[in-house]
Amino acid sequence: MATFKDFRNKVKPNWCPGCGDFSIQAAIQRAAANVGLEPEDLAVVSGIGCSGRISGYINAYGFHGIHGRALPIAQGLKMANRELTVIASGGDGDGFAIGMGHTIHAIRRNINITYIVMDNQIYGLTKGQTSPRSAFGFKTKSTPAGSIESALSPLEMALAAGASFVAQSFSSNLKQLTSLIEEGMKHEGFSFINVFSPCVTFNKINTYDWFKENIVDLDESSDYDPSNRVMAMSKIMETNSLACGLIYQDKSRPSYENQVKGFREQGLALQDLTITEDEFNKLV
Ligand code: SF4
Ligand code: MG
Repeated sequence: MATFKDFRNKVKPNWCPGCGDFSIQAAIQRAAANVGLEPEDLAVVSGIGCSGRISGYINAYGFHGIHGRALPIAQGLKMANRELTVIASGGDGDGFAIGMGHTIHAIRRNINITYIVMDNQIYGLTKGQTSPRSAFGFKTKSTPAGSIESALSPLEMALAAGASFVAQSFSSNLKQLTSLIEEGMKHEGFSFINVFSPCVTFNKINTYDWFKENIVDLDESSDYDPSNRVMAMSKIMETNSLACGLIYQDKSRPSYENQVKGFREQGLALQDLTITEDEFNKLV
């Protein structure tokens, strides 16, 4: 049986020392081992950004896609090979700006994959511009007088889009993050996990200390019921989207692929789908 060390490869991450993304990588590796996967059972698909490098740092199938397009690739992968456990991953710029259309539709479609957003509230790879997650008034080189837009709430968005699994965690809380990724992998449907992952180089506001002071940990709340969608939305709004833990889960909703018969169930093998060059030429 694989351990988290089997999900390590020899590639040395080139994230800045202290970047939150290191812990997210470790949490994925631990969660994969804890749910009993072998490296060949897992595929990690990423978008563009500092976070996008993660697919190259895990010993599993990896696909480093294009900006904002991790989710279409990951969904296609899952539909083609339903035996794979598929993780899509990317930053807040990748998933909530250029990729937002895909994010909302993937959530409501409910394909059985896990989407981990590495949320640092800034564009890190391009050296520190305001992202859809940056707070009102946030000063960067792209908003030198302070942002005049309000920050997106990923949790409100996911819940409103019809998510069947919504969670949030903090890269410093490896125990909670690993456990939420495990739950996300086991969930029969689309699991959305937003992770606060401080950018130590460019975001001097939303630091480790800032999150430690402001996060509201739902694991410490005994009367919180994650099966109650109304309670989930209230908690998100009450905590200004800083609640961490399992926010919402609907175990009754069928996943997309469980409602669509695939070519395997229909008795079609891959070779039945291939066509000759002559047949192809007639089509184009
Ligand atoms: Fe991490 Fe920020 Fe460095 Fe990118 S620029 S690797 S997000 S600390
Ligand atoms: Mg970012």
